[in-house]
Order: sequence, then C-alpha cells, then structure tokens
Amino acid sequence: MQTLAYGPWLLIFDRDATITAHSSMKMGGAESCRCGDCANFARQKPVPYPKEFMKLLTLLGVDPQREIEVYNQYVLADQEYVDYAGWFYFVDHVQRGDENAMNAGLFNWYVREGQNYKASEFEGNAVSRIEFRDLRLPVIDRSPLYRPNGHKFTSD
Ligand SMILES: [Zn+2]
Repeated sequence: MQTLAYGPWLLIFDRDATITAHSSMKMGGAESCRCGDCANFARQKPVPYPKEFMKLLTLLGVDPQREIEVYNQYVLADQEYVDYAGWFYFVDHVQRGDENAMNAGLFNWYVREGQNYKASEFEGNAVSRIEFRDLRLPVIDRSPLYRPNGHKFTSD
C-alpha cells in the first residue's frame, strides 16, 4: 500500500493491484453498452480528459480507457454536444477529503470511498472510485456499436 496526497485528498492505494485489475478488463464501460450515448463516447477514445485528471489516474494506476461506467447527463440544446459523467475504480481507499471536488474549467471530479456496483476484475480488493462530471464531447455518431446479440458491427 502507498499513500498519495493529491489536491484535497489523502488516498491509500495499491497501484499494482489497480493495474492488474484494469489489464484484466476486456473493454471499458462505454464499449460494453449498446446505447448510442456510450457508442458516441467510445468512438472518441482516447478520451480527451484534462491533464490534472489524467495525472491522478496515472498515479493510481488507472487505465483512462477503462472507465467502469459513463452516462449522458444531458444533451446540449443544439444537439451537437453530449455532457457526460462517469467513474473509474482504484484499489484501495480514501483516507481524507471524501467530500471534496476538483475542477478544470467546467469538467469536475471527486474521489469517493467504496464502489457503485461490483466489477468482477476488482473482486477481493477494497475499492474506491473517481467520479467525473461535465465532460462535453461532440456528437459524432450515436448509432450503437453492437448488434442486439452483442456482436460488433465493424472491426474497429
Ligand atoms: Zn450506454
């Protein structure tokens, strides 16, 4: 276990265990979903997260392309942008700062003790999460990536 003081947080983390869990994930939450919002998100990988957010993920051993979940908060009125929120997991826990957030412009994120739902890759570990909000991405293509039976439309 290691300790990381970053922004308002004091985190206890196991970088190797976090890397191991991510490397056993076949895909991110966006790719595993058949909805158009996730497809639009997945098509824009690698996701252009702000530098300070990427730094936190990297320090903890989180793969930025392996989000646990992403969802559409709202579509901007002109229909050209989707405002996304989502979260990542890391091993192990939040020692201090659970109530705080950081931001880079509109984009903001916070670190919270515990998991929102179980991910089998993290089983056997204490898990905490990094949640983000207000990531605005253009609408490029919201047609689903997968057929109803779960097979991909294309090889990309
Ligand atoms: Zn979805």
